[in-house]
Amino acid sequence: MSSIFEKIIARQIPADIVYEDDRALAFRDISPQAPKHILVIPKKVIPRLAAAQPEDEQLLGHLLLTAAKVARAEGVSESGFRIVANCGPDAGESVPHLHIHVLGGRQLAWPPG
Ligand code: 5GP
Repeated sequence: MSSIFEKIIARQIPADIVYEDDRALAFRDISPQAPKHILVIPKKVIPRLAAAQPEDEQLLGHLLLTAAKVARAEGVSESGFRIVANCGPDAGESVPHLHIHVLGGRQLAWPPG
């Protein structure tokens, strides 16, 4: 069964998409944890970072550059932002499709909970 993010890629369910290219999609998180909270995902199905393969190296780099591009477009590149990729149960991963959270627009606490 396809994950909710595959359905967003396929436009089967709506999302507030802020960026798209041939390999990546970025959209606003439905439950934002900061004034700016965007998810950057690959169109290729990779469940999580731990499942990525050596052949995904370029794609992973592209996702990071896309996260930086989104942060610039959202106006938080200078003020600061955080990227997060929750991987597996202890990290609280809830959607089994690799995603990079881009969080910004407020002071973020460290260490994370
Ligand atoms: P995780 O907990 O796996 O690191 O992150 C999954 C994120 O996906 C959560 O922040 C959650 O709010 C977001 N999310 C879950 N379902 C949807 C949805 O249908 N649309 C959007 N835009 N975000 C979603």
